[in-house]
Amino acid sequence: MAAHTLHELFVEELRDMYDAEKRIIKALPKIAKRAQSDELRSALTEHLRQTEKQATRLEQVFKSIGETPRGKKCDGMMGILEEGNTAMEELEEGPILDAALIAGCQKVEHYEIASYGTLAYFAELMGHERAKELLGATLDEEKAADEKLNIIAKSEVNREALMSGESDEDMEEEESSPRSRRGTSMGMANERSSSRSRSSSPRGRSGSRGKKR
Ligand code: FE
Ligand code: ZN
Ligand code: FE
Repeated sequence: MAAHTLHELFVEELRDMYDAEKRIIKALPKIAKRAQSDELRSALTEHLRQTEKQATRLEQVFKSIGETPRGKKCDGMMGILEEGNTAMEELEEGPILDAALIAGCQKVEHYEIASYGTLAYFAELMGHERAKELLGATLDEEKAADEKLNIIAKSEVNREALMSGESDEDMEEEESSPRSRRGTSMGMANERSSSRSRSSSPRGRSGSRGKKR
C-alpha cells in the first residue's frame, strides 16, 4: 500500500470498495439464482439494485474530493466470493445451500460494514462533509441488508436447514442432538453451528442431503 497520508489511505480504501462493489454486482445474480427461498431471492435481488447505487455513490465520493473514480483489486472480497462459489459448486439447491448463501452474504456485508465504517470516519476526520454523508448512507444500507439476512435466516431458512436432515437417513442414528429441541426458540448461533457441522459430516457429503426420500 503506497499511502503515506490519511488522504492517500482514504483514496486507497475507496478504490478497494469500488472494486468490491463491482465484484458484488457481478456475483449477486448468480447467488440469487441458486436461492430456493423466495424471501432470500428477493432480498438478494433488492440488494443488487442497492449495490448498483452504492457503486455510483462511490463515484460521487471520488469526485467530491477531486479524485478520479478507479478500482483496485479487493483481495478480501475476492476471497469471500470465492468461498461462496465453492459452496455453490458443492451443494445442491435446498435449505442447506440457502443457509450457506446467507452465511456467505453476511460475510460480504460485514466486510462492507467494516470498510464503510472506517471510510465514513476518515471522511469526517478530514472534513469531507459530502463524502461522509454518502458513505454513511451506504453504511446504513449495508447494516440493514445484514439485518434482513439475519431475519430471513432466523425466521425460515436455518430452521428448514435444521429440519432437512429429518427426512434423511441420519435420523435414526443421532440420539440427543440439538434437533430434539427444534421448534423452540433456539439461538441462531446454535442453529447455525448445528446445521454447519451436520452438513460437513461424511454423510452430508454423500450428496443425498436435502433430498426428500
Ligand atoms: Fe455494498
Ligand atoms: Zn479489500
Ligand atoms: Fe452490501
